[in-house]
Amino acid sequence: MGRLLMVSNRLPVTVHRRRGQLQFEPSTGGLATGLSSFYRSYNALWIGWPGIDRKEGMAIKDDIQQKLLTENCYPVFLSQKEVDEYYGKFCSTTIWPLFHYFPQYASYSESSWQAYERANRTFCDAIVEVWEQGDTIWVHDFHLMLLPQMLRDRLPDPTIGFFLHIPFPSIELFRLLPWRTALMNGMLGADLIGFHTWEYAGHFLASARFLLGYDSWMGKITAGDRLSRVDAFPMGIDYERFAETATKPEVDKEVEKLNRSFRDRRVILSVDRLDYTKGILRRLEAFGLFLDRNPQYRERLTFVLVVVPSRTMVSRYALLKRQIDEMVGAINGKHGTIGWTPIWYIYRSIPFQSLVALYRRAEVALITPVRDGMNLVAKEYLASRVDDNGVLILSETAGAAKELGEALTINVNNDDDIVTALQDALEMSDAEQAERLRIMQRRLRRYNVQRWAEDFIHTLLDTHKLQEEMGVRILGAQARRKLVKTYQQAQRRLLLLDYDGTLVSFASRPSRAIPPQEVLDLLYSLGSEPANEVVLTSGRDRGSLDGWFSELPINLVAEHGVWLKPRGRNEWEMIEPLTAEWKEEVRPILEVYADRTPGSFVEEKDFSLVWQYRRSDSRLGELRARELVAHLEGLTTNLNLQVLEGSKVVEVKNAGVNKGRAALKWLSEGNYDFVLAVGDDWTDEDTFNAIPEAQWSIKIGLSSTGAKYNISSHSKVLALLHELQTHEE
Ligand code: UDP
Repeated sequence: MGRLLMVSNRLPVTVHRRRGQLQFEPSTGGLATGLSSFYRSYNALWIGWPGIDRKEGMAIKDDIQQKLLTENCYPVFLSQKEVDEYYGKFCSTTIWPLFHYFPQYASYSESSWQAYERANRTFCDAIVEVWEQGDTIWVHDFHLMLLPQMLRDRLPDPTIGFFLHIPFPSIELFRLLPWRTALMNGMLGADLIGFHTWEYAGHFLASARFLLGYDSWMGKITAGDRLSRVDAFPMGIDYERFAETATKPEVDKEVEKLNRSFRDRRVILSVDRLDYTKGILRRLEAFGLFLDRNPQYRERLTFVLVVVPSRTMVSRYALLKRQIDEMVGAINGKHGTIGWTPIWYIYRSIPFQSLVALYRRAEVALITPVRDGMNLVAKEYLASRVDDNGVLILSETAGAAKELGEALTINVNNDDDIVTALQDALEMSDAEQAERLRIMQRRLRRYNVQRWAEDFIHTLLDTHKLQEEMGVRILGAQARRKLVKTYQQAQRRLLLLDYDGTLVSFASRPSRAIPPQEVLDLLYSLGSEPANEVVLTSGRDRGSLDGWFSELPINLVAEHGVWLKPRGRNEWEMIEPLTAEWKEEVRPILEVYADRTPGSFVEEKDFSLVWQYRRSDSRLGELRARELVAHLEGLTTNLNLQVLEGSKVVEVKNAGVNKGRAALKWLSEGNYDFVLAVGDDWTDEDTFNAIPEAQWSIKIGLSSTGAKYNISSHSKVLALLHELQTHEE
């Protein structure tokens, strides 16, 4: 692999100009520090805003660039005004609140959206300047959601990963954004899109399906002809850095100093940036309640509340600061005594070593965000507990809760929950503390930030390989030319065409997928060609097919191979004698599922029953489909039935009857030198398997298949069939 281009809003180095002198300082924030050893091993270049106003920066651009290059950094220059608009407004007052489930705080302004677009474009320009063939680009976070697609439009076949460090909300919130489609498309420009948890990844996939109609399977999603992968990578921390620092003599000294202040009091600790998502007010309220209810702990514990100043230019944050000040004052006023202040409130940034000393001294970490993408503080606390004790209380709405099952998890809106957790934590035996801690520490030590980053990059490179394999399978120009040529030269041709999803797109109700005139004309002219045998192999019932196609010179197969109607004949014939008595037993089961799943219904054919859920909520539908299949399993083997999962349908029918069997009827009778089978779902796999190896089979959509080729949409099938016609004339 070439270089790794890391892209984030801020560079890990901040440039200041003080009294005419340029100063370079490490930026605050964990990503750069945590990844330092990782990105050194990768020949990486970090691209981002260095924190200096564009006007000032551009005047001494060369100096800055040169110095930053020695730190493997490359600057993107933005004016302070642009940063205020794009970061201060769009990122902080639109995306941040909405993605953290605070829609009531979100504002929607067209001008700040435009600033966001412009800033993403400025980043894109900077990357285009430095990108070289073979480089891998990794874009970080919600500031740059448009960037992946912008890069894809400008660079020849780049490898791009995108990681979102905040939650991706449920579709119900995401859809509130006026620019939701643009943001979705922007992210889908990446080959790999990573989230902290599977829940966020699931929300993203649901939005892609709902807003853009992109289906996904196993975390793979196709946007047009391109496949992207969506996966969860729970971000870790630089575990050893915390564990090692915690045992340093300097930290021992700081802990002793803390001991002199706290004496033998128990210490409860919380550390957050000033933010309404962190649940600080709710936490304080619960702590006040805890003191009310547990007088035995008065003067015996101290709550150390560390709040790190953040986004103070946004008025909501200034207000929150005031509210915290007031609440701390009220609790200390109510419960404090001459010799005891219940809450130690620290409103500033804490040096690393002092932070680790606090982590070490605190018996309990009380981390209660209302919503948090991950929450690294929780993990850092655990890594610093080198004495095998300490209890973590953690909100279930923090991403970290998905991995830290041994913490005491709470619902932040339930004061009682927090109070009880505090009591449990303070009373927990040493053995239990050690046991819980050990399990979590083992996990965090293994999946540290280095592993996280490597895992992401490996998956990204792997995705590229997968796309290449997929690219070979896609019916490209060369294979297509060969197909057309073989068709032209053939004397006897068999065309096995599925209907729904192949010749027409899916309609929400089966009866509505009426064939357009274009399809009827196409089938007519293909069927009229003397060398051709056209077979329409459908899952539909005889009546529908008769109504639409009986005038055409083509063969019809209904109910996935139960019925055949050879060209020019008036009667349907059954491929083998079947019974339908089993329906009485199976129908009531399907009906229960139809009742329990809004939007779904049961369709009855002569020899099959179908539960259709195309119009249902897709996640509920898929869940119910799995339940239904499991439910039917035992019953169907006794009755010699088979259960097929098609596209948004579960179909029950007699075993051994399928489209492949029907296809064999023609294959065994005719002597064809050209066979083409086209279909879009599982029921067509039988046809693909039935035709000779050397012949042509095409599956619509990019999912795995027994067909030789994939093609992205039904409209491309029509274009191909038209092409066959054109060449014939
Ligand atoms: N932190 C800091 N300065 C401090 C206290 C904490 O930089 O004075 C760090 C802390 O160690 C952690 C990060 O800030 O790595 C906070 O990350 P988290 O995921 O908990 O929350 P975020 O601020 O990203 O929402």
